[in-house]
Formats: sequence, structure tokens, C-alpha cells
Amino acid sequence: MPISRILIANRGEIALRIHRAAHEMGIETVAVHSTADADAMHVRLADHAVCIGPPAAGESYLNVANIISAAEITQADAIHPGYGFLSENAKFAEIVEAHDIAWIGPKPEHIRTMGDKVEAKRTAGALGLPLVPGSDGAVSDFDEARSIAAEIGYPVIIKAASGGGGRGMKVCESEDQLETLMQQAGSEAKAAFGDATVYIEKYLGNPRHIEFQVFGDGNGNAIHLGERDCSLQRRHQKVLEEAPSPVISDEDRMRMGETCAKAMRDMAYRGAGTIEFLWENGEFYFIEMNTRLQVEHPVTEAITGVDLVREQIRIAAGKELSLTQDEIEFKGHAIECRINAEDPWTFAPSPGKVTYYHAAGGMHVRVDSGLYAGYSIPPYYDSMIAKLIVYGRTREGCMMRLKRALEEMVIEGVKTSVPLHQALLEQDDVKSGDYSIKWLEDWLKTRAS
Ligand code: ADP
Repeated sequence: MPISRILIANRGEIALRIHRAAHEMGIETVAVHSTADADAMHVRLADHAVCIGPPAAGESYLNVANIISAAEITQADAIHPGYGFLSENAKFAEIVEAHDIAWIGPKPEHIRTMGDKVEAKRTAGALGLPLVPGSDGAVSDFDEARSIAAEIGYPVIIKAASGGGGRGMKVCESEDQLETLMQQAGSEAKAAFGDATVYIEKYLGNPRHIEFQVFGDGNGNAIHLGERDCSLQRRHQKVLEEAPSPVISDEDRMRMGETCAKAMRDMAYRGAGTIEFLWENGEFYFIEMNTRLQVEHPVTEAITGVDLVREQIRIAAGKELSLTQDEIEFKGHAIECRINAEDPWTFAPSPGKVTYYHAAGGMHVRVDSGLYAGYSIPPYYDSMIAKLIVYGRTREGCMMRLKRALEEMVIEGVKTSVPLHQALLEQDDVKSGDYSIKWLEDWLKTRAS
């Protein structure tokens, strides 16, 4: 069914990103917003806007009844959930489809499978993806846990099956801590996610985070668009992402990419997805799959020239993927900096009024942001206010351009992470691409002492 009006069930830069793709396809947009976001850029630019509730996300951006009502009132024929909020809520996807509204996302059953990490790992294993050694499914019995941990060797990590956002994980160094940490992980998971199920895997000492972008049409055709390296993280939150990874060879890219694409073909996956791996000593280990668009998707767009949101919309409208694997070429290098409204060194949030704003520009510089001078950043949501994405023919050229673009960014009135990114670009390890998921926190500690 053709799509002529998309309701965007999100806010901030991603709402704007979706609006832009829709308008470039001649599709109208409906913005839904909380009372705190009435002046947001995507609300101003959308063809229609509906207020769906007060600032608290639970009463607005997560308010299923109000979002569905807004779609009905405005006669939207599709819903794009963006990332976060309801994007990985299988029940919501089902409700959308039950209202004969196209869901711009994966099949609800795939969202559900990948949302349960034990189930996701089992599915990934069955599809031939390499796994982190660990328990075969959930572990409730302590004796079982002890024998698994002894077999794979300490340290191990205890993870919540329903976990997310880096929460519900405990690293266990030795057997005498195992029982206590398992109990702690279970009760924390119960409190945070309503599910005490935990599982165990080998804790990797110094891995990189490498993820593959995949796309399926829902009928058994699927492609991959290479990897992104998101190893620069703080508290499991990505800070800077790049593509291609400085450590992945062309052979490994095509081999792992094809393994991922084949897995998606076998499950007849629909839409955009990201398969996340830890990578250590040349080996990939599946950790999870995200069944949605990622924050860092623009670096893939920059090196492939493919508009991922446009592909998502095409597939939801029942069309085919616009490219075959052979037509995808990886060219040059791209880096994304996540710019947050926060103190660059203490990371304390810094919401408030932006008194002056000037975005970087020039060749191969992209800024995805809803900021404008006079805009008030509300305190209720994620602190990310802009993404700066820079492309260059080589990694070195890309970094020089990024440095130049960061110099041009002016955001006054609030503190931002621009100085953090500027300092990062001066570090030899960042320049050479020699970093693991531990690097950023270690560097911040050294810097502070
Ligand atoms: P979440 O869904 O909470 O983000 P993930 O399974 O994706 O959880 O893990 C988040 C992060 O935790 C990873 O990016 C990595 O930094 C760390 N991590 C997860 N599993 C392991 C492991 N087996 N060994 C070492 N670090 C891990």
C-alpha cells in the first residue's frame, strides 16, 4: 500500500531526520509532541501537529492511545517510531498494524525475539552468528551457573535477559562472588524490567564494539551495508562512531556482512536492523540485535550514499530494496560526534535556552539537529541536541575536516560536549584508531587525576 502521510512518533533530531526523508519522497508528515516540545523544529516543519500529552514521556511519547488517536484524527497511513521510545515495543507495532496503519519497522515477532536477550542469542546462534561463550539460555540454578563459569573461565558477566541501555549487568571476577552477584543482578533486573531472568557469558577484557547495518524486505531478500565502529563509549553510551572501522579488513567486512545478511534472509527480516558484536583479537562475538534505526546511521549513509530512512519507508510501503548487494560500494570514511547539552567533563546535564546557534557547514559536513537560536532545550529528555557527521576520502582527511567543523560549531547559552570531542581528536590513540570500549573511561580517569 502506498504511503502518503507519516506520523512521526518521536522528537528531536530523529523526528526531523524522518520528516526530511518523507518530504523528499513527496510524503506528508504529522508531528506529535508533548507540551514541552510545542516549539520544536520538527513540529514547525511538519504538515500537521498534534499535542499528545504533558512533558513526562510516559504520558506523551510513550502514550500509545494518544499516538494512535493522533494517527486516526490526521488520517496518517504510516507510523515511524524513530529510535528509543516505542521503537522496539512489539505490542505497539502490533497495535499500529491492527489499525491498518503501516508500521515503518520490523515484523512485531522479530522485535519481540530480539528484545529478549536470551531468545536473541539463541536465535542468532541458530542463524549461524558467532556468540560470546556462555550459558545456553537463562540460568536460575547456582550450581549450574558455577559449572558454566568454571568451564568458560573467569571473569564472567551476568546479564539480564530483559536488559537494555547497559543496565542489569554484573562482572564477576571469581567463584566466591558468583552467587551474590547473580542474586543482585536478578533482583535489579526484576526491579528495572519486571523480569529476573539472567544469563552468563564470558567477560571480554578489551573488545571493540562493531555493529553491522542490515536491511531486509520481509520476503527473504536482505543486504548489509557494512560496519560501524562504536567503541568510544562512556557508561555503555556511544560518544563518537565511525565507518568503516579502523581495524576491519575488506575481507572480514564482506565475510561478516554476508553472514549477517544471510541470517536476515533466513528469518525473512523486514526493515532496518543492526547486529552488534564485540570484537577481540580478530574474532566477532554477537551481543544483541537492535530492530530499529540507530542514532549513528548517518555514518553508513555517508560512506554508501544510501538514505536509510528512505529505504525503511519504501519497504513499509511494500516495495523492494532499491539496491542489491553488488550495487553497494563503500567509499571513504565518516565520523559522527554526538553533541549533548551537558558539561563536557562532569557530564552534568545542561538544559536551557540556546541564545546563539551557528551550525558548521562546508563540503561533506552534515549537522542533524533541531536547534535554533532562542530554542529552549527541555530538561525532560535525552541530552543529545545535535549530531555532527563528517565525511572524507580518507580517515585522516575526515578527522581534519571534523576538527575544522567542530571549530565552526557555535552553541551558546548551554554547555555542550563540543570541547570533549575537540580534546578526543587530539589523542594519539583516537588519531590512530587504537581504542577499545574501555579507552574513553580510562582516558577520562587519567585526565581527571
Ligand atoms: P545493552 O542492551 O544493555 O546495551 P549489550 O549486551 O549491548 O547491553 O551490552 C552493552 C555493553 O556492555 C557492550 O557494548 C559492552 O561495552 C559491554 N558488554 C556486554 N557484554 C560484554 C561481554 N561479554 N564482555 C565485555 N563487555 C561486555
